[in-house]
Amino acid sequence: MRRVDRRRVERLRRRVVTIGVSFASGALAATLLIDRLDRPVVQTEPVAIATAGTTSSVAAPRATAIEAAPLSMGDAIGVLAGRKLEIPVRGVKPTDLHDTFDDSRALGRRHDAIDIMAPRGTEVFAVDDGTIAKLFTSHAGGLTIYQFDPTRTFSYYYAHLDRYAEGLAEHQPVHRGQLLGYVGSTGNASEDAPHLHFAIARLDTDRSWWKGEPINPYPLLSK
Ligand SMILES: [Zn+2]
Repeated sequence: MRRVDRRRVERLRRRVVTIGVSFASGALAATLLIDRLDRPVVQTEPVAIATAGTTSSVAAPRATAIEAAPLSMGDAIGVLAGRKLEIPVRGVKPTDLHDTFDDSRALGRRHDAIDIMAPRGTEVFAVDDGTIAKLFTSHAGGLTIYQFDPTRTFSYYYAHLDRYAEGLAEHQPVHRGQLLGYVGSTGNASEDAPHLHFAIARLDTDRSWWKGEPINPYPLLSK
């Protein structure tokens, strides 16, 4: 009887240790995953981006140099510089922008974005042609838009929106300068400091909207 009890205690002890260790590593993983870019913490999201020509029996001419091989970061930035991206907030001039990409945010994270201050309700425009990859609401980013560029190499992220432009929908093609929504303070933005949190990422090869390597938008928009 005593022996059985001891075994039971030992088993219980082992279980507690196992749970403790799993909890600690889970918490660590969660901390690492918490939105570096005010992005949502999403770990398993099915990719549901429509690809042009998938229903056609004729192969769509979709192969481009960019699609064939992932660009080096230097080349990627060069490509983006050539696009001459539109400033995404009405009335904002290049000289009005501030480089806050490397600023630190909560939990030792880097901002990885720039904040463009503007009154609530100011129009937000697409910086480039492309497609609406995802309309997403997150705790940090509030009402957000993920746009892919035409080659699906980059994502453009617009956060803290007050509302979307009427009729805006996922998978919708958009053109540079198109109205996407309005500046606000949804998510973790301060109520009295509405702004657009704008980020660019080079997508991973799986082209998941919530992943990618951050690229500083400041040098691309300030000239
Ligand atoms: Zn921000």
